[in-house]
Amino acid sequence: MAAVTASTWRDIVSYVRLNYPDLSRGWFSQLSPRTLASGTLTVAAGNASQVSYLRRHCQRPFAVAAQAATGRLLTVDFESSADPQASGERIPSLSFEEENELALNGDYVFDNFVVGPCNRLAHAAAVAVSEAPGRAYNPFFIHGSVGLGKTHLLQAVCQQVLEVAPASRIKFISCETFTNHFLEAVEKGAMNQFRYRYRNADVLVIDDIQFLAERERSQEEFFHTFNTLHQSHRQIILSADCPPPEIPSLEERLVSRFNSGLVTLLERPCLETRMAIIRKKAKMRCLDVPEEVVRLIAGAIDSNIRELQGALAKLELLAATRAGGIDLAAAEQVIGVDNGRRRVSIPEILELVGQRYNLRQADLQGKRRTKSVTRPRQICMYLARHLTDMSLGEIGGYLGGRDHTTVLHAERLIGERGTEDPALRRELQELKDQLLNRPAHAR
Ligand code: ADP
Ligand code: MG
Repeated sequence: MAAVTASTWRDIVSYVRLNYPDLSRGWFSQLSPRTLASGTLTVAAGNASQVSYLRRHCQRPFAVAAQAATGRLLTVDFESSADPQASGERIPSLSFEEENELALNGDYVFDNFVVGPCNRLAHAAAVAVSEAPGRAYNPFFIHGSVGLGKTHLLQAVCQQVLEVAPASRIKFISCETFTNHFLEAVEKGAMNQFRYRYRNADVLVIDDIQFLAERERSQEEFFHTFNTLHQSHRQIILSADCPPPEIPSLEERLVSRFNSGLVTLLERPCLETRMAIIRKKAKMRCLDVPEEVVRLIAGAIDSNIRELQGALAKLELLAATRAGGIDLAAAEQVIGVDNGRRRVSIPEILELVGQRYNLRQADLQGKRRTKSVTRPRQICMYLARHLTDMSLGEIGGYLGGRDHTTVLHAERLIGERGTEDPALRRELQELKDQLLNRPAHAR
């Protein structure tokens, strides 16, 4: 049976060196793994006195290291390579193709990132990390709501590192990819390849790490990946929609690891920053957008930069088909000001209902059926039926892929309860008022 891969073996030796410096010896670099059978990893040393030293002092440190690196319960034994019984089996060679998983977006660079009070700290830290990966802040953790520039900053760091040191091994992946690769590796018995993939990076960037929530085995594996990289001073960068302690059921040891570097928050941008972002994006699209239009859009869309950008794209499309080009009337049409009344969107409903009932959007869109979630979810459906033009199917699609009968049922149920229960009636009215009457320009 094959022993461990070269990279896992390197991990084991580094682990011992780091955690047991007093026991480590220079000749450890000449040790090599020989066989792995019945839960025992046999390691070859150069001569009998080394074997004797290892057996007396290092059996446990190497076992702990082997367990950390492989995630398996292993014991370790030593033998001399001069031993005639030694099998001579070699470490299997690794046949990895260099996979290029970097899907870096050329627009997501520091030059295109508008800095304001909401993101100054996160931006400065990201620049510092890109200038000294593994040394400035490690790990570097950015959190903030959706559409506030987390992915942009993460990618900007990667692109800056590559600009200075093109040979850097950068692994930029979503948390989903990490967990999928992990499950695939478990299924195919290819954990060594998996570990080589991730523990060999100079910079490991995982976007939306909150998706590790409730995935115990992936968390366990990520913990070891994290330790291996961190101990060898390689940079780890993570993003999430909330700070580490708020990621649901994230193991305490991971929370403390994530908190051990720099944790920064991306806040919602203020009006000036939103205006600067629109100007920047307009320039990138070679669009001439009058200041009054910039102000109108920035005033109307205050929660999410991605939506600001979407509005600009719609404006460009619309302007191409009308005589006035990009003017106030076109902008009003784009942001949904309709005779002084706003059109309401489902994301707005989800956001407001989420805030009111202290739920995350993922809960409202998810599968959980506890009463604390189902009632607010039904309220979302009810509001969507009353305040948007969406079909039953579309509303169900937004709310976790539920079918049209579920939406119809929710609408009826909440309507009926609202007539019977004055508190619910008031609550619904308040939600409607907030959604409809938030003046589009004045926010
Ligand atoms: P997140 O990952 O936080 O959901 P993204 O990084 O995908 O958000 O950002 C959404 C969009 O907003 C992207 O197109 C990004 O370029 C843009 N964006 C976010 N923040 C800024 C900023 N400060 N300056 C310029 N563009 C920004
Ligand atoms: Mg993102």
